[in-house]
Amino acid sequence: MGTRVARSRMDVSKLVEVLTAAYASEWLAYYQYWLGAKLVRGADEGRVAAELTLHATEELAHAVLVADRIIQLGGAPVTQPRDWRASRPASTDAPDDPWVGTLLDQNIVGEQCAISVYKDIMDLTREKDPVTYNVALGILQQEVEHEEDLQS
Ligand code: FE
Ligand code: FE
Ligand code: MG
Repeated sequence: MGTRVARSRMDVSKLVEVLTAAYASEWLAYYQYWLGAKLVRGADEGRVAAELTLHATEELAHAVLVADRIIQLGGAPVTQPRDWRASRPASTDAPDDPWVGTLLDQNIVGEQCAISVYKDIMDLTREKDPVTYNVALGILQQEVEHEEDLQS
């Protein structure tokens, strides 16, 4: 993966800042899905748990892609997990209520937030940084799929 960026036409530090928020969100989404899969109760809980577990692994893969790109751009991913929440745009989403409807609704909000973050990254990088643009597009497609899965 190349690192070439048309720096004169793009604010790289702004991009790294948004990627950092995305990175923190991916770890939090991973944990939210991972734990939600264990706690979920209600109709079809076995099938829902399997889907949440799959989503967890996909969120972790997103964290890998975003971290790699932050490093390539000369930034540093958040080193302290306690800072993840401060870096991310969305609010609380701990799976404190294990009822399947509540859990899925929380996860849908998280996906909608992720979708808007990756759209922002695509807007920042369109025709300026095709590498980051393609990373964001690939992740966005999977976040849309996640949201559709949860809605159904
Ligand atoms: Fe994700
Ligand atoms: Fe997702
Ligand atoms: Mg799915």
